[in-house]
Amino acid sequence: MTLPDHMEVRKGHLCIREHDMVALAARHGTPLYVTDEDRIVWNYRQYEQALRPYYPDTRILYAAKANGNLAVLRALACLGAGADVFSAGELHLALAAGMKPDSLLFNGSSKSPGDLALAVEKGVIVSVDSLDELHQLDAAAGQAGKRAAIAFRVNPALDVPTHPKIATGLATSKFGIAHEMIPAAYDEALGCEYIDPIGIHCHIGSQILSVEPFARACEVMVRIAGVITDMGVRLKFIDLGGGLGIPYHRPDDHAPTPTEYAEAVMPVFRKGITAAGISPSLWIEPGRSLVADSTILLTRVNSVKTAHRTFVNIDAGFNLLVRPVMYDSYHEVLTANRADQRGTTLCTVAGPICETGDILASDRFLPDPVAGDILALLDCGAYGFAMSSQYNSRPRCPEILLKGNMAALMRRGETISDLTCTMQSPPWQKQD
Ligand SMILES: *Cc1c(COP(=O)(O)O)cnc(C)c1O
Repeated sequence: MTLPDHMEVRKGHLCIREHDMVALAARHGTPLYVTDEDRIVWNYRQYEQALRPYYPDTRILYAAKANGNLAVLRALACLGAGADVFSAGELHLALAAGMKPDSLLFNGSSKSPGDLALAVEKGVIVSVDSLDELHQLDAAAGQAGKRAAIAFRVNPALDVPTHPKIATGLATSKFGIAHEMIPAAYDEALGCEYIDPIGIHCHIGSQILSVEPFARACEVMVRIAGVITDMGVRLKFIDLGGGLGIPYHRPDDHAPTPTEYAEAVMPVFRKGITAAGISPSLWIEPGRSLVADSTILLTRVNSVKTAHRTFVNIDAGFNLLVRPVMYDSYHEVLTANRADQRGTTLCTVAGPICETGDILASDRFLPDPVAGDILALLDCGAYGFAMSSQYNSRPRCPEILLKGNMAALMRRGETISDLTCTMQSPPWQKQD
């Protein structure tokens, strides 16, 4: 396995730049999420440097659901990022991080009346997913005496090679309006009293390891942009969504770089907007590719059991990292305290949750595991902590943020009283 650039092994210990992960685990306990802000900045700059030479008017909207910690959002806000938000909570977090309302796109196929009212109140652009939603938003804007800027979410009907649970642009997906119905949708929006259709939006899926689907989606989008421009829509932006994958199997996977993405997509984009006679902003919405490799999950080996295989029982389960269980996904596992030793024992890395399926890694060679070892699961920055739960009444672990030679908590660990603090006794159970 090859380590990502910002990691190295020093005196047998896994390090993120100068930070020793074994020392960090000793100081803060395990399990522990550790995120490197410098890596997020680097990832963001890769996108900027790749896209801007082709088209300066490019905006990066971070997909907040990948990692919604306020410190992560703030780091990206400082770089000028906007955000793709998918709930009222994400909208509030993005604003609290200092992002401007007009750099946020409120997505989702099932928004509540409260969501729509909030978007109107804050002046956030809405990605509209149905005509029903369009008319509800028009009414909400009218009621508030405001106008609502929108994009329609296009379903480009593309079959994309990724896990079926994260392919979002299939003709049968729950997201978006079928591409052939889109001109009629804009026609309807032009007829609404309080709606300004200013953008067009798609997102074809996640963990996509080839750039070709993005180019195909872009082709569909610029073609529709031309059609709706002729109908009188004044497009201010075309949003191509996120979805670039990362190389979870190191070094076997090849994940396209932002440069490869730009080389494939930008010529299609430029040709399309030239043909349409427009010059809208280009928006993209990366989530995973900005944050996934910035973060590791440190976990301690509680016990080792030799059964039909060697079970390495750790203190983090799918309560803290659900991806292996939900998406059959792969995360590299290293023994952080003996990172210079070769794996010799074939292991199953199992969590502490009361479910047979609570396996975070199968069939991995680790250096002869013993209780007390600190394992590091790599590439946990996207859809890691963000999807955590308190299942089995396990308080969530802390999150540490690194920057330069500094390290600080960006979320404290939950306690047992955090588990009970929202619970209430029904009156018939009141005790004195
Ligand atoms: C999840 C999501 C993204 C980000 O996807 P990644 O694969 O993490 O880059 C972008 N846009 C929308 C609408 C999404 O739902």
